[in-house]
Amino acid sequence: MKQRTILEEYRTKRDFDVTSEPKGVRRRTPSARPRLSYVIQKHDASRLHYDFRLEWNGVLLSWAVPKGPSDDPSVKRLAVQVEDHPIEYGGFEGEIPEGQYGAGTVEIWDRGKWTPEVEDVDAALKKGELKFSLDGERLHGSWVLVRTGYARSGKAKPSWLLIKHRDK
Ligand code: MN
Repeated sequence: MKQRTILEEYRTKRDFDVTSEPKGVRRRTPSARPRLSYVIQKHDASRLHYDFRLEWNGVLLSWAVPKGPSDDPSVKRLAVQVEDHPIEYGGFEGEIPEGQYGAGTVEIWDRGKWTPEVEDVDAALKKGELKFSLDGERLHGSWVLVRTGYARSGKAKPSWLLIKHRDK
């Protein structure tokens, strides 16, 4: 099977002559900066959802959270992993034109910095349990993403749960 290039799926889904979403520059710089960015975009598409994005390895790892994050530790929110987005997407707000992938309104709902609470983020992602803390405009403290399974179709991305951890 052909190795997919970085952001290939993101670009394939969009017509950059029509949408004002960023194309993203081709790069794969390791996230050497000690503080990594995150953003949550409220996306009023065919179904309203919140796109949760964590900067990692030069892209924004992305999950669509239908109900948005809850800061109640007893509430688990479905987070469906979607294609990696370019870092510049974190600054995007506006209209995605009708007929385009994800047509609708995007607005930044929260943004800030995230810090892994694991030694090895790539290993944690592979294992399916990523603990981290958020320091944003709305969200703070410890959170975890737990992978719950893969869709049957090989193309589909896995489902995760986004859960607030009790802070010390
Ligand atoms: Mn979306």
